Amino acid sequence: MPKSKQSASKHVAPPTSPTTKVPPAMKTPVKKSPAKQSPAKQSPAKKLAAKAAAKAAATAAATKKAEKTKVAAKKAAEKKAAQVKAAATKAEERLAAAKKAAAAKLADETSAVRQVPGWGSSDHNVVVPKPGTIPVGAGLCPYELAYHGAPLGAHVSTSGGAATAPPRGVDIGATAIQLFTKQASQWKEKQFTDAEVLAFKTALVKTPVTFATAHDSYLINLASPNAELRAKSIDSFEQEMRRSIALGLDAVVSHPGNFMDDRASGLARNADAIIEVLERVHGPTRLLMEFTAGQGTALGSTFEEMAELLARLPAALQPRVGVCFDTAHVFAAGYDLASVFDDVMTRFNDTIGLDRLGLFHLNDSREPLGSRKDRHELIGLGKIGEGAFRRIMTDQRFAHIPKVLETPKGDDMITNDRRLLRRLRVFAGGR
Ligand SMILES: [Zn+2]
Ligand SMILES: [Zn+2]
Repeated sequence: MPKSKQSASKHVAPPTSPTTKVPPAMKTPVKKSPAKQSPAKQSPAKKLAAKAAAKAAATAAATKKAEKTKVAAKKAAEKKAAQVKAAATKAEERLAAAKKAAAAKLADETSAVRQVPGWGSSDHNVVVPKPGTIPVGAGLCPYELAYHGAPLGAHVSTSGGAATAPPRGVDIGATAIQLFTKQASQWKEKQFTDAEVLAFKTALVKTPVTFATAHDSYLINLASPNAELRAKSIDSFEQEMRRSIALGLDAVVSHPGNFMDDRASGLARNADAIIEVLERVHGPTRLLMEFTAGQGTALGSTFEEMAELLARLPAALQPRVGVCFDTAHVFAAGYDLASVFDDVMTRFNDTIGLDRLGLFHLNDSREPLGSRKDRHELIGLGKIGEGAFRRIMTDQRFAHIPKVLETPKGDDMITNDRRLLRRLRVFAGGR
């Protein structure tokens, strides 16, 4: 009978019999080894807590790792920056050393010209006097010998040959001389024989003259629009450079030309002619472009125009070209050296740069400020007055710049120049 069996069984085994329950004694050993306990056996709350803790630990570890990475990255960046800086410093140092070496080399070459009188021609064998044994001409008094400033002197005659110029310098107490290497008012060129070059160099080393420059011919006009005249000028200018290099001169002074037709074209022609010649002729003799009074169509009477002329030369020629500051010309061109000396020199430095200044022509002016007329006067007796010359002789910025007089000689070749050089040295002494 299935029905009664079913009902009977219903009552016999209640589903919640105590025998089916896990006895408490059975739970204890499980608790003894919680490590081996499977998570499935943990309570849901505990599981959640563990999960959260694990997550927090992971987050903390990640944060710590990120921080570590950040610090490492920062350290690496700092190290890289230091390396870059060190490299830059090293490069700067290398550049400075190279510049210094180049300057030393140039100084060496320049003094080599002075020390080896045979330089510039074939096989001269000149005995260079030992220091202290240089014979001093009668022109130098003890006071003048005590003067140790930059080379100071005057334009001297070469009548009787180039070799007569250095002793003439001695006669007036000069340590710098300027000369013509040919008849300045004629196109006829001159070529020195080896004997003449030797005679000049021998004469020069016997004197205290440490700066010698040429002044080129007045006929040269490198800016001329006339092709024939310009070609003639270029040839004459080239020969002037060659003669001066042969004599071992420090510089050639040259006036910018006259543009005649149009200023800009004239400036371009002048610059192109200089480039043409300097690329053909090589030697340590520097070209010094002299400021002009600006009479007629003369170029180079303003600092700006001279700067433009210099800027037209290629970088390779720049070190070979500087400027000559003629006080009379600059004054006549309109720069008031007499009353605003500092302003003029600041403007000169801003436009041209003191580093381009290779020579002073010290001349007072017979003509007034801005007259554009080129008339030289004895120092202190012209429209500039002695104040500007006192400034030039005492300004430390000009202490190493050679200075040459081109003032009227008077009745003889010696008296005026001697007197003026002595006067300038008195100025230099602050008296
Ligand atoms: Zn001149
Ligand atoms: Zn001059």
